[in-house]
Amino acid sequence: MALIDPFQRAITYLRLSVTDRCDFRCVYCMSENMTFLPKKDLLTLEELDRLCSSFIRLGVEKLRITGGEPLVRRGIMTFFDGMSRHLDSGALKELTLTTNGSQLEKYAADLYAAGVRRVNVSLDTLDEAKFAEITRWGRLAQVLRGVDAALKAGLKVKINVVALKDFNEVELFDIAAWCADLGMDLTFIEVMPMGDIGNENRLGQYWSLDDLRGSLAERFTLTDLPDRTGGPARYVKLGETGQRIGFITPLSHNFCESCNRVRVTCTGEIYTCLGQEGKSDLRGPLRASEADAPLEDAIRAAIGLKPKGHDFDYSRQELGGQMSRHMSHTGG
Ligand code: SAM
Ligand code: SF4
Repeated sequence: MALIDPFQRAITYLRLSVTDRCDFRCVYCMSENMTFLPKKDLLTLEELDRLCSSFIRLGVEKLRITGGEPLVRRGIMTFFDGMSRHLDSGALKELTLTTNGSQLEKYAADLYAAGVRRVNVSLDTLDEAKFAEITRWGRLAQVLRGVDAALKAGLKVKINVVALKDFNEVELFDIAAWCADLGMDLTFIEVMPMGDIGNENRLGQYWSLDDLRGSLAERFTLTDLPDRTGGPARYVKLGETGQRIGFITPLSHNFCESCNRVRVTCTGEIYTCLGQEGKSDLRGPLRASEADAPLEDAIRAAIGLKPKGHDFDYSRQELGGQMSRHMSHTGG
C-alpha cells in the first residue's frame, strides 16, 4: 500500500504549506507588494487534517509544515494538536516545521506539547540593520527571542541561512560560532531562481556553496560526512570544534535519485518535484466527497507522475530552468 513512484522511490516525506502569507518580505522570496490567495481557495484546518491523515495512511512518516509563515495561519495550533494523534499511534515518526521564528516565542511550548521536537528557523544575518534589510519587515530581536524560547521549550533548533554574496559572506564565522555556542545545527542554502520578486538581481546574490566551503576550509579542517536524508543536504564536520554544517544545493542534480518527498501547497496542489512545473489538484477530490477514497486515488495518481529529476542550471550564467512560482507557494 506504500506510495512508490515510477522510479521505485518510496514517498515517506510530505512538506505541506499551510498558508501563502507571511509577516516578512524576504527579498529573495517575495516582492514587497504580494497579492495573496483568496481565503476560499485555502484548505481549511479540517481539510489539512484530512489530507495529512490520508498521506500518513498511505505511508508518509515525516511531515514538515511550512508556508509562507506557518505560524501566522490562524488556528494553526489546532492542526498541530490534531497531528499529535498520528505521532501517538506511531504511524507518523516526525512532525516538524520551517519557520522564520517570529512567532516562536508565543508557540514554542505548545509545539513541544503537540509532539514537535525539532524546528528549522530561517535566519540569514545576526546584524539588526541587515536583518531588517533582507526581510524588509522583520525584527531580529523578536526572532532571537523566538529561538531562545524554542531552546528553552526543549526543541532542537536548526538554523537555515540563505548564502548571499556581499551580504552574509562576512558573517560566516560569526553565525557558525553562534550556532555552536547554542548547540544548534546550521545549514546553508544556495539561493534558487524562484518567482517574480521584483528588481532584485538574483544572479548577483548568488554565493556558491563551493566558495562558502572554501572559506570555511581556510580556518577549519573539513571532513565530509556520509549522512544523507534523502534530501539535497550534504554535511561536513569541522575538525577543530566537531561542529556539523550542512549545505543545501538544490540547483545540483545530486539528490534526485534518492528523493523521498512531495510538496503540497495551501490550496491542495501537489508538486512531486521542486524543480518542475508538474502538479496535480488534491482539493477537488478532497472537497468532492466526505470519503477519503477519491483523495487517496488522486494522491496515488499524482505520485505515479513524479518525474525523475529537475532542470535548474546556473552554469550558463542565465536563469536556466527558472521556476515561475514563488518559494512561499511551495514552501521551499
Ligand atoms: N517562512 C518560513 C521560513 O522562512 O522559514 C517557511 C517558508 S520559506 C519559503 C522556507 C525556506 O525557503 C526558508 O529557509 C527560506 O530562506 C527559503 N527560501 C525562500 N526563497 C528562497 C530562494 N529563492 N532560494 C533559496 N531559498 C529560499
Ligand atoms: Fe516569509 Fe519565509 Fe519567504 Fe521570508 S522566506 S518572506 S519568512 S516565507
